[in-house]
Amino acid sequence: MADKKLVAGNWKMNGTAADLAEAHAIAAGAGEGVDVALCLPATLIERAARALPGFVIGGQDVHGTGSGAHTGDIGAAMLLDAGARLTIVGHSERRADHGESDADVRAKAEAAVAAGLDVILCIGESLEVREAGAAIATVSAQLADSLPRTAARLTVAYEPIWAIGTGKVPSVGDIAEMHGALRARLVAAYGEKGNSVRILYGGSVKTSNAVKIFAIVDVDGALVGGASLKAADFLPIVEAARNVW
Ligand code: PEP
Repeated sequence: MADKKLVAGNWKMNGTAADLAEAHAIAAGAGEGVDVALCLPATLIERAARALPGFVIGGQDVHGTGSGAHTGDIGAAMLLDAGARLTIVGHSERRADHGESDADVRAKAEAAVAAGLDVILCIGESLEVREAGAAIATVSAQLADSLPRTAARLTVAYEPIWAIGTGKVPSVGDIAEMHGALRARLVAAYGEKGNSVRILYGGSVKTSNAVKIFAIVDVDGALVGGASLKAADFLPIVEAARNVW
């Protein structure tokens, strides 16, 4: 079990220099007792990392190889050089928009960890899969097929696709069941070290539901999209994570 929750914001394709004031406010309000990070658009990483020393800035994707002829992509060493300390891999929007497979996601996770970045590896089912009663089997298989070789630097984020940006959230029982199944998979993959890998929940986390979600066993934090763009929305979620343990 992790000793602190992690609340990570994902700004997606949002934000220009004018929005860095929000990142400043979030860093200033993050406080102790919770790990807090912001995964920013690539164009803001260096500015934010310089302006906010000690606060964890992350990327949203990384290439699965070190460097080379991959126009438009970003390598792990580049993220580190810009000041990022972690990166998301396998977000469902990248899997959908860019056809990323579990094997691609595993390569990205391996490349990031090898370079010294922490990784938030995203997995989650579609509504069709949920309604067909196949969510646990599907997401467990996705996890097994995406995991890097070691548990070092790894965080997993369970993000049901149908909950992202929709205001819909699975029931407490469904989140608990999924996180329990993912924990079992992590222990099967890594032995005892699998118990220390944080499993975040992501999908329409807001102030109004954060306490309920953070109280679920094996929910070690949250990956937050829309509500991470403004400090006024994000900091109460961080506060909920601080108070629920
Ligand atoms: C996300 O994109 O990772 C996410 C969880 O988005 P939202 O919080 O907006 O649902």
